[in-house]
Amino acid sequence: MNDITIIGSGPAGLTAAIYLARSGLNPIIISGEKPGGQLINTDLIENYPGFKSIKGADLMISMLEHAEDLGTKFLYESVDSISKNNELFQIRLASDDLIETKSILIATGANHRHLNVPGEKEFTNKGVSWCATCDGAMYRGKKVAVIGGGNTAVMEALFLSNLAEKVYLIHRRNMLRAEKIMQERLFENNKIECVWNAQVKEILGKDKVESIRLNDNSILNLSAVFIAIGTVPSSEFAKNLIDLDPEGYIIANETKTSCEGIFAAGDIVSGSLKQAIYAAGQGALASRYIEEYLGIR
Ligand code: NAP
Repeated sequence: MNDITIIGSGPAGLTAAIYLARSGLNPIIISGEKPGGQLINTDLIENYPGFKSIKGADLMISMLEHAEDLGTKFLYESVDSISKNNELFQIRLASDDLIETKSILIATGANHRHLNVPGEKEFTNKGVSWCATCDGAMYRGKKVAVIGGGNTAVMEALFLSNLAEKVYLIHRRNMLRAEKIMQERLFENNKIECVWNAQVKEILGKDKVESIRLNDNSILNLSAVFIAIGTVPSSEFAKNLIDLDPEGYIIANETKTSCEGIFAAGDIVSGSLKQAIYAAGQGALASRYIEEYLGIR
C-alpha cells in the first residue's frame, strides 16, 4: 500500500516527489518507459531560473537523480486505468499489475499532436519525427521541414539549422506564436526559410520521406519532417474519476481535482502555463495538499 503514487516524471512529478520524500513519505513514480517528460527531448532551456542555458536532458537528469537520491522509487511503466474502492485507489498498469495507493498525483503532461495527413504514420521514424534533438543528426547536410509556429517549432528549426543544409519552417498562418526573442533568432538565421499560410497535405516517399505536398499543391523535396504543432493531454486513463475540460485537460483547483485524493500538476492541468518552472511550482503546491490529505501536516 503506497501513501502517494505519482504518475508522470516531468518537472511537476519530480518536484512533488522531492518535497514529499523530504517530508518522510516514500513516493513512487510511474514514469512511463522514458522518464523525464517532454523536456528530456528539448535542446536548450533558457528561462529556468538559475540556468542561463541548460540542455533539457541535463536539467531533467538532475531532477531525476535528486528525486531518486531522496528515496523515490521509479516504475518504468504506463498506466491503463485508475479506480476507487473504499477510499483507496487502484492503478492498473499496462503490464496488468495493480498498485494500491491512498492518494495519486497526476503529472502526465501531454503527448505530441499529430498532423493526421497521409504518410505521417507510414513514415514515422523514416523521416517523420517529433524530436529534432533525438533524430536531427540523421539529416546532416539534408533539407528538412519543421511544422508549426510556436516556441517548440522555432526551437526545433534553430537546432536543425546547425545540422541541415536548409530548414523550411512551415506555418499555417503568417504570424508566429513563439516568443519575440525566439522569432528574432529565427529571422536572423539564413538557413531557415519560413513558408507562410501553408499546411502539409501529404508526406510522400518510397521507403522514407522524399517530399511533402502543401495545400496549394506545391511540392517541397526534403528528407525529414519535424512536427511541432503542440500537444494533447495524457488524461484518458483518469476520465472516469475526475472532471476534464473539453480538450481533455484536468480541471483542478490549486492542484485538487474533482475527486478527493487525486491531485494534478503541470501541463496536464486545464489553463496552466505550459512552462517547466510553473509545473515545478505546481508540483510543490500539490505536495503540500497531499500531505494535508494524508494527515501528516
Ligand atoms: P503551441 O504554442 O501550442 O504552438 C503550436 C503551433 O502549432 C501553433 O503555431 C499552431 O498554429 C500550430 N498548429 C496547431 N495545430 C496545427 C495543425 N493541425 N496544423 C498545423 N499547425 C498547427 O505549442 P508548442 O510550441 O509545443 O508550445 C507549447 C507550450 O510550451 C507553449 O505554452 C510554449 O510557450 C511552451 N514552450 C516553451 C518553451 C520555452 O519557454 N523555452 C519551449 C517550448 C514550448 P497557430 O499559431 O495558428 O495556432
